[in-house]
Amino acid sequence: MQNIEKNLNQIRAQILQAAKRYERDPDSVLLLAVSKRKPAADIRHACQFGQKDFGENYLQEAQQKMQDLQDLEICWHFIGAIQSNKTRDIAQSFDWAHCVDRVKVARRLSDQRPATLPPLNVCIQVNLDHEASKAGIELAEVADMASAIAQMPGIRLRGLMSIPAPRDNFEQQRAAFAQLATALESLRQEGISCDTLSVGMTQDMEAAIAEGSTLVRIGTAIFGERT
Ligand SMILES: *Cc1c(COP(=O)(O)O)cnc(C)c1O
Repeated sequence: MQNIEKNLNQIRAQILQAAKRYERDPDSVLLLAVSKRKPAADIRHACQFGQKDFGENYLQEAQQKMQDLQDLEICWHFIGAIQSNKTRDIAQSFDWAHCVDRVKVARRLSDQRPATLPPLNVCIQVNLDHEASKAGIELAEVADMASAIAQMPGIRLRGLMSIPAPRDNFEQQRAAFAQLATALESLRQEGISCDTLSVGMTQDMEAAIAEGSTLVRIGTAIFGERT
């Protein structure tokens, strides 16, 4: 049994420390607890220790947990690949979708977002290292895609998300995140209001915070290894 309280406190302390070191406001870095393939009971446990944001990759699994945890106030983030035939369910049940990488998918999410809910928060996924195994668009395509989706009424473009390939050292990790931070800043200069850089996992969280991450996605270090 993992000690979720202890793990959460440890991660929070690391975020605080990194924020201080790089002169960031600690409150500007949101901790997203990635709960994929972990039971609803673990999420409930984390909620008791003040965690509100949870990330899920698999739709059906997430829907089951949402049902089990209806009594809790949770902000649900979809962080998996988005297939076109899943957009309706994602638009209906989630607060965020981090992996938008097609205009068509963005349009479907926007059209299918229930009018009773606030717009779905979305990030554009960037495939920084051109990896065939990963989703996302090239950095050079970000500006066009952002302007294509920024005005869609059912979604609210919040920023960029990426999972860079592992780097050998801290400086290389920082350099990768800096490219994303620059791209986000260019969007802002073009008048597209974005406030989110969804980068940083267990291995590269500090470098991500150094370069302006506003949302780190941490699973194993909170909930333990997935089986
Ligand atoms: C699984 C996952 C994470 C968390 O990974 P850990 O190694 O468990 O911390 C973060 N982001 C995405 C997109 C994921 O799929």
